[in-house]
Amino acid sequence: MTKTMKHSIASGFLLTSILFLSLSASADPIILRRGASVAALNNNATTSATVPAGSHDLRAALAEKAIMLADAVAKRDQAIAKAEARQKQIGPKKDVIGKGDTLAIVLARAGAPANQAADAFAAVTKVFNPKDLRPGQQVSVHLAPAEDGEGLVLQSFALKASVERDVAVERQPDGTYKAADKLKPLTTEISRAAGTIDNSLFVSGTNAGIPVDVMMEMIKILSYDVDFQRDIQPGDGFDVVFEQKITPDRKLARNGRLLYASMTLSGTSLKLFRFEGDDGFVDFYNPKGESVRKALLKTPIDGAKLTSGFGMRQHPILGFSLMHKGVDFGAPTGTPIQAAGDGTIKVYGGNGAYGNYAQVQHNGQYATAYAHMSRFAPGLRVGSRVRQGQIIGYVGSTGRSTGAHLHYEVLVAGAQINPLSVKLPSGRKLEGQDLREFLNSVKNLEQKMDRLPQPVQVASAR
Ligand SMILES: [Zn+2]
Repeated sequence: MTKTMKHSIASGFLLTSILFLSLSASADPIILRRGASVAALNNNATTSATVPAGSHDLRAALAEKAIMLADAVAKRDQAIAKAEARQKQIGPKKDVIGKGDTLAIVLARAGAPANQAADAFAAVTKVFNPKDLRPGQQVSVHLAPAEDGEGLVLQSFALKASVERDVAVERQPDGTYKAADKLKPLTTEISRAAGTIDNSLFVSGTNAGIPVDVMMEMIKILSYDVDFQRDIQPGDGFDVVFEQKITPDRKLARNGRLLYASMTLSGTSLKLFRFEGDDGFVDFYNPKGESVRKALLKTPIDGAKLTSGFGMRQHPILGFSLMHKGVDFGAPTGTPIQAAGDGTIKVYGGNGAYGNYAQVQHNGQYATAYAHMSRFAPGLRVGSRVRQGQIIGYVGSTGRSTGAHLHYEVLVAGAQINPLSVKLPSGRKLEGQDLREFLNSVKNLEQKMDRLPQPVQVASAR
C-alpha cells in the first residue's frame, strides 16, 4: 500500500512539473485549485478557482502553487514514513500464552479493538476450543492502521495450538473473520529405549528417554506379572519399543502405541508384545502368544477392603445363617466398579435383594455379578461389550444391604464359586491364524530391534 502511494505521489509530482513547464509557456487560463491533492491533480484537473490570464500573475500564481505542491508532497512523504514506522511497530506481534491468559486478554494486549477481537474470537471457537489454550503456546497478532487513519484494525492472528496444529483467524474483505486450522502431516516412527535400573524403574526409564505415558502403560501391562514393590533389584533391566508421531520439522507431536516391553528381573527376562487379534481386541502377549492379562480380576474395585468373605455366615439383616455366595468389598458410595474381565453384559437393572445389579458373561463358562450399586454406568445396556477394568457401575447400598459395599460374585456354569480361593482362568491364548500372525510380528520386530533409533525427545519450546 505504501509503495503504491509513494509511486503515485512521485508520478503526480512529475506530472505537476510538466504541467508547470507547459503552462508557463502558455497564456491560456489554467485550472488549478488551492490545496489540490496530488492524487486529484494526477487524476483530473478540474478546479474551483481560475487563475486569471496575464503572464505576471500567472507566473506568480504558478510559483506559489509549485511551492505549495512541494510542501504537500513533503508532508505526504512524512505521513507515509510515519505510517510505515507505525506499521512496523504494530506488525505481527509475537506473544506467548501465560498462566490465566485468555485469547481475549492476548488480543487486547496486542492492541486489537474490542469489537474486532470479539468477532475474531467467535470465529476461532469454530475450530478451536478455548479450553485447550495452554501456557506456553505461541500467538502472533497482526494489526494494521485503519484505512481512515483512525486507530488499528485486527488483520489476523495465529496460534500454535500444538506441535502439529496451527490455528489462524483472518479478516475478510467484508470485515468478518474466518478461522482455519492446519494440521501438519505426521509420520510414525518406531523408537527403542533400554537401560539398567539403578534405584527406580521410573527414574532410570525417564533417563533412558521413555515418555511418562509410555512408562505408565508399560507398568500396567507388566504389573500382572511383576510386583513393582518387591521384585525389582538394582541391576535389573528394561527395554521398550514404542511409536512416536513426528512432525515434518522433526518435532515430537505425541507418543504412539507401546509395541514391546521387557524386564529382566534377577536374570530372568519377561517379554511382552502388543498384538491386535482378528476380533480387534488389542492385548499384550508373551512370546508363546499367551495374554498377560488374567481373565478375571480378583478385586473389581480400587482400594476397597474385603468386609465379608464367601461361605456360611449370620446374615446381618435376616438374622439367621445363610450361605454368602459372594464376597463383599466395603467402599464409599460412588466408588467406580470395574468389569472383572472382557465380556458381554447379560443382566443390567434392578434385581430384588441384589438391588441395582450387573452380570457380565466372560466366556462359555465364567460370569461375574455386581450388586447393590448406587447407579449404572452411562451408555451400557444388556448386550454391551465391556473390557476388563471398564467402569460398569458405582458402589451403593440398594437392595437388601446395611451399608455401602460391592457384593461381587464369580459364577461358573451358573453357580457361584469363591473368587478368592479358586484359581481364576488365565487370559486368552492366541491360536490358529492369530497365533501365526503374532509369531510373525514378533520375528519382524526382533529382527529390526537393534537398528531402532533412540526416542525423539520433547522439544523444550513448543
Ligand atoms: Zn455380599
